[in-house]
Amino acid sequence: KKRNYNETEFHQAVHEVLGSLGRVIAKNPHYADNGLIQRLCEPERQIIFRVPWVDDAGNVQINRGFRVQFNSALGPYKGGLRFHPSVNVGIIKFLGFEQTFKNALTGMPIGGGKGGSDFNPRGRSDGEVMRFCQSFMSELHRHIGEYTDVPAGDIGVGGREIGYMFGQYKRLTNRYEAGVITGKGLLYGGSRARTEATGYGAVYFVERMLATKKHSLEGKRVIVSGSGNVAIYTIQKMQALGAKVIACSDSNGFIVDDDGIDLDIVKEIKEKRRERISQYVKLKGGNTYYKEVESIWSVPCDIAMPSATQNELTGKDAEMLIKNGVIAVGEGANMPSTPEAVANFQKAGVLFAPGKAANAGGVATSALEMQQNASRDSWTFEETEKRLAEIMCTIHDLCAETADEYGIPGDYVAGANIAGFVRVASAMDALGII
Ligand code: NDP
Repeated sequence: KKRNYNETEFHQAVHEVLGSLGRVIAKNPHYADNGLIQRLCEPERQIIFRVPWVDDAGNVQINRGFRVQFNSALGPYKGGLRFHPSVNVGIIKFLGFEQTFKNALTGMPIGGGKGGSDFNPRGRSDGEVMRFCQSFMSELHRHIGEYTDVPAGDIGVGGREIGYMFGQYKRLTNRYEAGVITGKGLLYGGSRARTEATGYGAVYFVERMLATKKHSLEGKRVIVSGSGNVAIYTIQKMQALGAKVIACSDSNGFIVDDDGIDLDIVKEIKEKRRERISQYVKLKGGNTYYKEVESIWSVPCDIAMPSATQNELTGKDAEMLIKNGVIAVGEGANMPSTPEAVANFQKAGVLFAPGKAANAGGVATSALEMQQNASRDSWTFEETEKRLAEIMCTIHDLCAETADEYGIPGDYVAGANIAGFVRVASAMDALGII
């Protein structure tokens, strides 16, 4: 705690993972040798840098950039970039730590990393976002590469930002190295289904988890928090598989539509106009309302898909959901449920899919993008989505089987932590003390 002073979210993530490892160490004590656990908790490299840029009014703005290269035992560092005013080193470290195990669960050759900046894209013009991205990449380009570290998007970083960053990387290095970043547009090396992958993947995971209890998505009432990339494609796949999504949100409040969310309107507001979700009520009318203060989790539902940000679902929220009869929770976001919320769900027997397993479809499809770039190929949407669906089923089964093996059936949290840990720890063990 002294060494990682004030890094609250990082402590939370480490605590959560290490809390699951007692049974593994008891069975395989050598995993505690050679400082392996301590090495796992210390990033291989952390880069913090100045990002100066000029706003539209001609003022110089200074932001802080981060890249935490957490663990490269399984492959080049891989993980997104987050642009949000709340970003600090503790948040990036928690995300990089989680990413290491998530990437291991995909079974693909990727290590863990994460980065970003405290830059707030909200209300900024295209020109300002471009100049910020160019300045950010002017430093970051020294630290990344197809074989070193491959960033992607996250909160506040979508197709537009990835395009500007890839453009600057190409200009600085004079190399068309498509495999250096993922989430690219289709015209310059992107993969079909990457935009949809995290949301679709989370739904596939929950569908398979429900099937273990003979439930399906058909007719279920679903709440999805957020209205960004993960939320939008979670809603889309939920609806395609017969569920009824009745609420979504942004950081100001949430909307409820008892007839089922009209996704075209959400996409128009969030992807095209870049406005607030409250606009939905004006555009849709009918059985809709908007609330600013209350928690979205007070709305009764069968399935909850927290898909906005960390710690957005508290112990109290979990109690409300349980009281209202929730049967399953799928984390689209990273660590959206507080430890109290997770404990409440597990105590109540709610099926609970932790983010590091349920939202791994995004990074898995990023790894498929890297494969396409390496082979200079481009797969169809159907082919890519089929592979994503297979990967999500495999991750689900790995978590479930691992939980069974360690005598805690149905505990996907421990299943994911243990299965991810065993892969990373085994590789680290084989590579020696580095
Ligand atoms: P976006 O920026 O596209 O959307 C984020 C959404 O969450 C927005 O609706 C935003 O509202 C809301 N939000 C952000 N911060 C807060 C906050 N502090 N309180 C309440 N709401 C907030 O990001 P993504 O959809 O890409 O990411 C969402 C989550 O999913 C994150 O936890 C991310 O790490 C995780 N994730 C994303 C992956 C991806 O492929 N994109 C892959 C795996 C995980 P507002 O517009 O008001 O800010």
